[in-house]
Formats: sequence, structure tokens, C-alpha cells
Amino acid sequence: MMFQMLYYKKPYLRKLKTTIREIRGNLLLLEDNIFFPGAGGQASDKGSLDGIEVKEALLIDSEVWLKVDHHQLRKGTIVELKIDWDHRYKLMKAHTAEHLLLRAITQLAGNSVELYKIEIKKDSAKVVIRGQLTWSILKRAMDRVNEWIWEGRAVTDRLMETSMAKGFHDIRARWERIHNSQVRVVFIEGVDAAACKGLHVHNTREIRMFHVKGFHRERLEGLPCTVVEFLVDLDAIREMQTRSFLIGDLQQLFPTTPLKNLVNTVTNILVENRGNVKTIKTILTHLMDPDNMVILPDETRILRITFQNSIPKVVMKTCNKLVELYQKVVICLFGYDYEKAQLQVYFTRSKAVKVSLGGLISVLKASTTWKGSGNDKVISGKIFSAEVSDIDRIWNQILSFIHSTLVG
Ligand SMILES: [Zn+2]
Repeated sequence: MMFQMLYYKKPYLRKLKTTIREIRGNLLLLEDNIFFPGAGGQASDKGSLDGIEVKEALLIDSEVWLKVDHHQLRKGTIVELKIDWDHRYKLMKAHTAEHLLLRAITQLAGNSVELYKIEIKKDSAKVVIRGQLTWSILKRAMDRVNEWIWEGRAVTDRLMETSMAKGFHDIRARWERIHNSQVRVVFIEGVDAAACKGLHVHNTREIRMFHVKGFHRERLEGLPCTVVEFLVDLDAIREMQTRSFLIGDLQQLFPTTPLKNLVNTVTNILVENRGNVKTIKTILTHLMDPDNMVILPDETRILRITFQNSIPKVVMKTCNKLVELYQKVVICLFGYDYEKAQLQVYFTRSKAVKVSLGGLISVLKASTTWKGSGNDKVISGKIFSAEVSDIDRIWNQILSFIHSTLVG
């Protein structure tokens, strides 16, 4: 019965004229329905009914009810349903991509990994997988998923007797959760078979592109899990374009670094920051401004960025990675807090820059109220009762210290 719903039979149907069968406050039951109530980790459809916004569709006692706000509708009225197709189609693509990803991960990491949770909304899609996945596996999985997408594999579904379906070892399913006598199995031609209640595209080519935006580890119910966030279609394509721009910018900043290192660094930074492109873009925009860069005669590059208030931790982490890209590079970060009249200073350098950090700390101590610490690569601290003009003064001190150490 459940799988006879119109959204299963005709998932590409966007509009439908039908009659109101029953009204319970803000909930409407119709003779026929195209709104998907959400299942298999996929969010509910949104849309409209005669121009009235449909907030969500709910499955109550095997019937789909549409939730609307204020209305003056009456039982028996003929109405037109319209689903928010952009929203729905994106979910169909993300859902199908999730099947491909799970199959690829199973192939690469073995059966030790298992699906824990899927969450597919309009702006984000993520899967939570039991087990610890590495970037190296995810990278290969991404490659495999995109190949399957571009090969244009057909996606079909079939109802099977649960007892029979269980006999097929290669049908992915959490059998302990399936209690009906029939199960809906979704097949991706030559790639995957999985028990699923979600909606899918008819051909993998419709997804166009798949991209792992980032991943992180979490413990759920005491077990180690990997949360993988991904993008599909235009979102994935845009992300790839952004990355290629970032790599181009980095090439300008670090011209002698091999391209492969640049690509790896960008990927690592983005993966660790859950795909936060904004941070790295901001950093690069600042660093590429000639006012923020000094190049010494021995080609050492000294770069700076100033922030209002404090320096974001993610920026420090990112700059630590960036200094590894160029043989001789130093990045100074300043964060000035107007209210507290406090200046935060962070200094990171590549190993090739032979500057004594102890010496630099002494310079800062001698002329300011510096309190901070450092290791062989990084120093971090605060200057109290500072004025905004101190930023330039300290920057010049740092520059002349490095200059006198390196160039004499
Ligand atoms: Zn599915």
C-alpha cells in the first residue's frame, strides 16, 4: 500500500489537480497526493496548494497529510498541488548520490563500515558512518562516485518479499529495522542495490557531480563514527570552481611551490575546516594585497593580516599550513580589540626562515607589555594597553628584526 503512493510511482510529477478529502485544522488529506512526507533520511517536500504554502507533508496512519497555515478551504474542493521542484529534485539527486557513496565506501573499506544515519536537506547532505574513515578512502570513493555518475547508470526500484530479499547478500539494508513483509529495493545498474524508502533520480547522470565537502569524527552511542558532508550537482561544480580559483591564487602567492602541493594543501585545509572556503578566501585576499607583503632580497616573504577583535583559531591553523607551501615565508597575524585596548599577535614561519623566535620575543618584551609564549615555529601572545597604531609599529619592529637577522 505504502509503495503505491503517487510520489513513488511518478517521482517527476510536480503538479496535480485533486480533491480535498478531509480537513483537520491545519492538516489536509487529499484524494491523491504528490507530496513526499520524508523517509530514508530525506526531508519532506515543500510547495503549495492553490497558492497556499505547504509547510510539510506528514505520514499519519499510512496517509499523507499536508500541513498548511491559515486557510479557508472546504472538503470536496478541487485544488492544485505544486511541489517545490528545486528542493525536491536536489533531494532526489543527493539521495541517489548517497547510495553511490555508501557502495563505494563499502567496496573500499570493506564491511567493517556501516551506515548509521543519513540526513538530506536542501542545503546540506550528510551521512554518518560507523567506523573511522580516512581522507584517502573518501577521496577514492569520491572519484568512483563521479565515474558512476558520468557513466549514466539507470536507477530503478522493485518491491520484493522481505524474506527473499534477505537472501541476497549484496542488498544493502538494515534488516533489523525492516518489519514489513515487502521491501522496496532500489537498484543502480551494475553498481548497487539497497532497501530504501526515499526518492531517487532515474539516471545517475542527472546528479552531474558529487563532491565531499568535508568530514569529521564523532562518537555516537559510544562508537567511533565518521560524518561525511557532501554536495551534488551545481553546488558541487561551484565548489570545484572555487577550489580551482583558490589554487590559482595560491600559485600567485607561492610561485615556486609545485602544483600538487598546492592542491593537497587546499584540500587538507578545506577538509579539516568542513569545507569552509570563506576562511581561506579571506586569508588569501588579505595576503595578496601588496600592502600586506614584504619580499626581502633573499626572497623571504613576510605577510600580514589584521583582524578586528581576536584572531580566529581556524586562521591560525590555516596559516600554519600555508607557511609550509613556500620555502621562506612568515605570516604575522594581528587582532586588535578596541574595547579592551588589547592587541593579539600570532607569528608563524616555515622552518627555512632562520629567525630566532626567542630573539623576536625579546624585541616585543623590550618595547611592549607582551605576554605570550612560543615554540620553534610559532609565537602567540597579547599586548595590553595597546593602541591601534601599535600594529604598524610592531610590524615594523618584526620586519627590521627579520631583515637584520637574514640580510644583515
Ligand atoms: Zn534511497
